[in-house]
Amino acid sequence: MMATEIKRVLVVVAHPDDAEFGCGGTVAKWVKEGKEVSYVIVTNGDKGSDDRSMTPERLAKIRAEEQLTAARTLGVEHVEFLDYPDGELEDTLDVRRDVTARIRRFRPDLIVTQIPHRSSSLYASHRDHRITGSVVLDCVYPLARDHLSFPELLAQGLEPHKVREVYLMVWDHPEVVVDISDTMELKLKALACHASQLGNFSRVEARVRERAAQLGKPKGHAYAEGFNRIVIPR
Ligand SMILES: [Zn+2]
Repeated sequence: MMATEIKRVLVVVAHPDDAEFGCGGTVAKWVKEGKEVSYVIVTNGDKGSDDRSMTPERLAKIRAEEQLTAARTLGVEHVEFLDYPDGELEDTLDVRRDVTARIRRFRPDLIVTQIPHRSSSLYASHRDHRITGSVVLDCVYPLARDHLSFPELLAQGLEPHKVREVYLMVWDHPEVVVDISDTMELKLKALACHASQLGNFSRVEARVRERAAQLGKPKGHAYAEGFNRIVIPR
């Protein structure tokens, strides 16, 4: 399935908690296999609250802490926040430069990100998710690869980098199904760190278990996560 020489993985998602929901079990599995996994979180998640006394500043701080704890639970030590406002993400030169800089700095073999178009799930199709996925693919090719793109990054010592594979977290008909039966409990533990987002965790847990069981069923896995895969020709 995956090329065994994948050593470094970068997960780029729109919001704190997207990684745990979409690929937490896979991330934990890769960390156990000795791969180095890092996160880039594009927005600060400062709109995700129904508490009328909450402020965007306080929420962004809470969510950054929750994300760091969740990542550590899965064995991800490095998390970077690009700090764009939640729900207002646009595909701009600044966002593309910021993501390109992280790809050139972390130099991942594989990137996991969100799918750039709508699926049957309204929640999974959040505008910030679609824009993040689209930006990341533009950065993988051609922006991170070509030295003439963003010469200011080259001047900072950020050499061009070729990513080899991209996994897109998908809702419908995944091309790749990753067995997360052994890391499902860790995924749930990491998800539970996002307390500001979850309300009643037992309900969230039931939903996540059901979805992962559904994805795993055709392959005979107790639990799974699903992706589409893009292999970048050398
Ligand atoms: Zn999200």
